[in-house]
Amino acid sequence: MERTLSFLARESFASLLQHLQESGYHTVGPQVREGAIVFDTLDSVDQLPKGIHDQQAAGRYRLESSDSPRLFAWANGPQGIKPFLFTPRETLWRSQRDESGSLTFTAVEPEVKPTAIIGVRPCDIAALYLQDKHFLQQESLDPYYQKRRQQLLLIVVNCTHPAKTCFCASTGDGPQAGYGFDIALTELDDGFLLEAHNQRGHQLIEKLPVQPATEQQQQHAAQALSEAASQQTRQLPSQNLNHKLFANLKHSQWQDIAERCLSCGNCTAVCPSCFCHSEGELAALDGHSSEHHREWDSCFSPGHSHIHGITIRADTRTKYRQWLTHKLGSWHTQYGRSGCVGCGRCISWCPTGIDLTRELAIICGDNDE
Ligand code: SF4
Ligand code: SF4
Repeated sequence: MERTLSFLARESFASLLQHLQESGYHTVGPQVREGAIVFDTLDSVDQLPKGIHDQQAAGRYRLESSDSPRLFAWANGPQGIKPFLFTPRETLWRSQRDESGSLTFTAVEPEVKPTAIIGVRPCDIAALYLQDKHFLQQESLDPYYQKRRQQLLLIVVNCTHPAKTCFCASTGDGPQAGYGFDIALTELDDGFLLEAHNQRGHQLIEKLPVQPATEQQQQHAAQALSEAASQQTRQLPSQNLNHKLFANLKHSQWQDIAERCLSCGNCTAVCPSCFCHSEGELAALDGHSSEHHREWDSCFSPGHSHIHGITIRADTRTKYRQWLTHKLGSWHTQYGRSGCVGCGRCISWCPTGIDLTRELAIICGDNDE
């Protein structure tokens, strides 16, 4: 499809939201809640985080206000778009026992509306495609995830304000999106450059009060994205650490990390590609019905790796090592790439400021600390 860029003036931005709503979409977008930027139902562009910047560092996340008219001058919040597809907790089926003692099982199908998410980051698109690889495998397709995925329209905002914790340039997943969206926006001072990636995106842009983007606007956007990549100071030692990680399972740094790690699981909760979950039953007090649910789980939780009465990874050293060797190592074998998209959330939201880029540099031999 031919790459054409259009310009939507800042004062016309509401037309995008309005058109999506008139087309029947449930609209979702970023907004400030309790000191963080989260995605939630977006009824008006006034809810967007206008003039907000984020300051992120290891173990630190703060928002600051400014008089900038920009809506997307921040990097990311604690959640990507994962909760909209792989929900933190949901009921999968219910069982009912009748008076004769027979059991009936009923699937609980999610009610899904067409949903348009505005403000998705390129790293979160990459994480979405990783989750697709897991949940949409032909041999074990997840109908709950699939139903939501099929109803999604995605409006990406390329990153011109990366946080100090971001390293998507080194994983190849940002700061500009190259796939997986309907429309990509790049924010300029006076408006937005719009790029459609598919027919649906083209049809949507045609309905907006846009102009062809000028040469100068395109140069400003390209320069902002290039600067966003070069501002990133963190990086992974390599995009494929599979061999190096498994060659260093006995490295002393795993124990060093274990002495700082609280096993709280924050890192896995904020990671947009983590997909571990557990399942359980909730029996009604009358003893006649129960519901079977699944909820997010973590390789740091006490029940993780408990098999046939034995917990295989019982200590923090082996739990943390499992997290990194899977995400940065054996994902290559399982899904054809690393499971890390460089969003940096696990660095900001770790209460003790453990930074996987630093730990990996030590464990994989590029740093002799
Ligand atoms: S491992 Fe950390 S930086 Fe990588 S995708 Fe997960 S949260 Fe983001
Ligand atoms: S690495 Fe940090 S966020 Fe992850 S479990 Fe340990 S203390 Fe919690």
